[in-house]
Amino acid sequence: MRIAICGTDDKAFKIKSILDRLAYHNIVVGMFIGPDAVGLCHDNIPIIPENELLNRDYSKEIDGFIISPEHYGLTRLSIYKKLKASVYANKKIYLPDFETLYNEGNVKDLSIEKILVPYEDSSQLFYLEVHAADHCNLNCKGCMHFSSLVKEKVFPDFNRLSEDVHQLRKFIKHIDIIRILGGEPLLNPELDRYITLLREAYPYANINIVTNGLLVANMSQSLCETIRNNEVHVHVSLYPPVKNKKEKIEAFLKDNGITFQISDCINTFTSTYQSKPFVDKTYAKEHCEIFCNNLRDGKISCCPQVIYTHYYNECFGTTYPVEDGMIDIYKIGSARELHQSLDKPVSLCSYCDRSTCFDWSITKRLNAEWLSKEECL
Ligand code: SF4
Ligand code: SF4
Repeated sequence: MRIAICGTDDKAFKIKSILDRLAYHNIVVGMFIGPDAVGLCHDNIPIIPENELLNRDYSKEIDGFIISPEHYGLTRLSIYKKLKASVYANKKIYLPDFETLYNEGNVKDLSIEKILVPYEDSSQLFYLEVHAADHCNLNCKGCMHFSSLVKEKVFPDFNRLSEDVHQLRKFIKHIDIIRILGGEPLLNPELDRYITLLREAYPYANINIVTNGLLVANMSQSLCETIRNNEVHVHVSLYPPVKNKKEKIEAFLKDNGITFQISDCINTFTSTYQSKPFVDKTYAKEHCEIFCNNLRDGKISCCPQVIYTHYYNECFGTTYPVEDGMIDIYKIGSARELHQSLDKPVSLCSYCDRSTCFDWSITKRLNAEWLSKEECL
C-alpha cells in the first residue's frame, strides 16, 4: 500500500520512521503533503504542496493518507474535508494513535493498527472550546458567541464541566487544540481550575486562553503560575479599544514568562444570520470554515452559535432552531458516532449568513446587528 503523509513537521517524519520499522506490512510512503514546499523532499521522498495534490490527480500513485497531528493544527479537519471532496474521495484517511506517536519509545506493542486508525474511528478531536464566562467586558456588536447580549454575570458550573470533560475523555483521548474563552475568560475567578482540569484530561493538547486583553495586566501571580506550569498559551484578540494597550499587555506576558500571541487589530466583524432559512439547507454547512466544537452542560455542538443562540432568541423573541445541534455526550457510544454527528448540518446552518462585513463597534443590542445586509435594510 502506498501512503501520503499530510504534514511536514517532526510528527509527520516520525510517522514515516515508525512505518519503516513496520516495513514488513509493505506500506510505502510515496509523498509528504506540505503547504507550499515545492521542490523539497525528506528522506528522498518528495514533498508535494497541498494545492498541487488537489489540482492534479495522483490517485494512481496513492492508496491512502495519514494526517499528521501537528503542522496542520485545526486545518487537519480542513484537509480531511478537501480530500473527501476531491478525486481522492474513496481513499482511506488515517489518523495515527496519539499516544503511540508521542510515546513511541515506551510502547512495546507498536502495531500498524495504531498508526493506521481510520479517521472515522479515531478517538481524537481537532478542536474543542469551552466558555469560562458567557458575559464580556467589551460587548462587541455582532459577537458570534452572543456575549454582548448577556447582561448578568454568567459563569458555567465548574463541577458540571468537570463531569463533562471526564465523560468526553471516555471516548475522545486526545484533542489538538483546546480554547478557553467566552465572553471574557479572565472575568472568571476560577480560571485556574479550568486550566488544570483540561490539562489533566488532555496532556498533549495545545491549550489556549483567548482573551480580549483588557484584564491581562491584572492577572494574579497565582494565575500566571498556573498558566506557565500547565504550558497554556495566551491568545489576545485585539479590538480597537485595546489597541493602545498592546505594549503593556505584551510586557506583562513577557515579564511573567507566558507564551502568547496578539492578533492584528480586528476592525471588522461579519453577520451571523438571515431571518429566513436558505432554500438549500446544506449550503452553509458545506461552505462552513468554522469547526469550533463547543462543550457546555453535557452537550457538544459543531459551533458556538448552536450553544449560545439562545441568548439572541431570548433577547429578540426569535426562534432560531438549536436543539438538533446539541449532541448529548452521555448518549454518545463511540468516537465514530460523535464524529458523524459533528459533521452533519443542523437546522441552524440553514440560517447562517456571513455575507455582510461591518466595522467593529460596541453593541447597541439591536437584533439587526447580527443579520446580513438584506435584513438590515
Ligand atoms: S471581546 Fe470577544 S467575546 Fe467579548 S463581545 Fe467581543 S467578540 Fe464577543
Ligand atoms: S451554524 Fe452551521 S454553517 Fe453556521 S457556523 Fe455553525 S456549523 Fe457553520
